[in-house]
Amino acid sequence: MKTKILLKEADMPTHWYNVVADMPNPPAPILAPDGSPITPDALGAIFPPAIIEQEVSSERWIPIPEEVREVLRLWRPSPLYRAERLEQALKTPAKIYFKNEAVSPAGSHKPNTAVAQAYYNKIHGITRLATETGAGQWGCSLALAGQLFGLEVRVYMVKVSYEQKPYRRSMMQTWGAEVFASPTDMTQSGRHILEKHPDSAGSLGIAISEAVEEAAGRADTNYALGSVLNHVLLHQTIIGEEAKKQLALVGDYPDMIFAPCGGGSNFGGIAFPFFADKASGKEIELVAVEPTSCPTLTKGVYAYDYGDTEGLTPLTKMYTLGHDFMPPGIHAGGLRYHGESALISQLYDEGLLSAVAIPQLETFEAGVLFSKTQGIIPAPESCHAVAATIREAKKCAETGEPKTLLFNLSGHGHFDMSSYDRYFKGELEDFDYPDAAIKESLAHLPKVG
Ligand SMILES: *Cc1c(COP(=O)(O)O)cnc(C)c1O
Repeated sequence: MKTKILLKEADMPTHWYNVVADMPNPPAPILAPDGSPITPDALGAIFPPAIIEQEVSSERWIPIPEEVREVLRLWRPSPLYRAERLEQALKTPAKIYFKNEAVSPAGSHKPNTAVAQAYYNKIHGITRLATETGAGQWGCSLALAGQLFGLEVRVYMVKVSYEQKPYRRSMMQTWGAEVFASPTDMTQSGRHILEKHPDSAGSLGIAISEAVEEAAGRADTNYALGSVLNHVLLHQTIIGEEAKKQLALVGDYPDMIFAPCGGGSNFGGIAFPFFADKASGKEIELVAVEPTSCPTLTKGVYAYDYGDTEGLTPLTKMYTLGHDFMPPGIHAGGLRYHGESALISQLYDEGLLSAVAIPQLETFEAGVLFSKTQGIIPAPESCHAVAATIREAKKCAETGEPKTLLFNLSGHGHFDMSSYDRYFKGELEDFDYPDAAIKESLAHLPKVG
């Protein structure tokens, strides 16, 4: 039995897969912040034309530029593993595979889109990119990509992470980016929050407002988003395409796929290429895994909402907990987002995708078992997919079903060891889904239509 299933560099996919081509219904339209139809000009203030085209494209296959493939080859194709030691520890008849996206220089799947976005901005003549980062994964990925294509990068980093994750900040600086703790007094959005909450620890929604404001206000500067948008999920489909080829090499095909789900990019990335088969009748269950404390798909509503806290972004129809929902300070920073990819939201609403929410302690327990059996220490976000896979593998042990399970190891946890420390000391808690906070936030949804 093979432990690592590897592709040759020459076998790296040449096209991204666009799930829109296989969706039963066209995507719900994006609206301007005031609820009117969006004009391409509005998006042109912050994104290059190629990205806007991809955002609204319904072409099934979109070529990956050679310049992008050249950079991706620094770590891709990423390995697919058979997690036999984990299977043995669980005494399960299930086969467990995982795709290892932790092998990128930034330590997660996020550089897959950062590289593409930096490239399209570069060829459009943009010289600076502004962005936000929560836990630091996205900021690192864009700093790396900006450096490789010669773009300046400015990162608004959520203040609590800026203080808790100094080495993520150092990484961004090593790759040449400027990093500020958000909210800052450099933008109107930041000042507005600081007036109301001088001690604000920041949030992803606030940091997005700051970065979008800067990009919209400067001709040389564009904005780059690390998740949620259609083009980001598109760029991540290279994960699922590779996984499909790798499983074919060992004559296997998954019954279920699990991935952690914050804004939906790594879940869409691994799941969508398999959705193409599902759309043509294949039986496969695609499961998004979220925290019980920020249960966007499992407890949110499907409605038009803003992507940021201040209401500067266009409105997308998505599962949301409300744009001013403040998730509890759980340790999977990448999963603390009020909204969700519009494509995933629509497919989930149509019953074509599944979702499960898992409490924090169970995710760390799973991450520790995975570390002890397979060696790799998963990011707290990735622990959610590990935990959901373990739940299913344990069910298989009871029923005797030899299911084939695949999960996405979206990143490693080397910069999250203080979270593991707190777990070991018994300091972490399970946050129940904050019913009242969600209700309060959902009362502030924009009125549309
Ligand atoms: C950002 C991040 C996530 C969540 O973001 P998605 O867009 O939902 O993929 C998950 N895992 C890791 C390691 C991350 O850095």
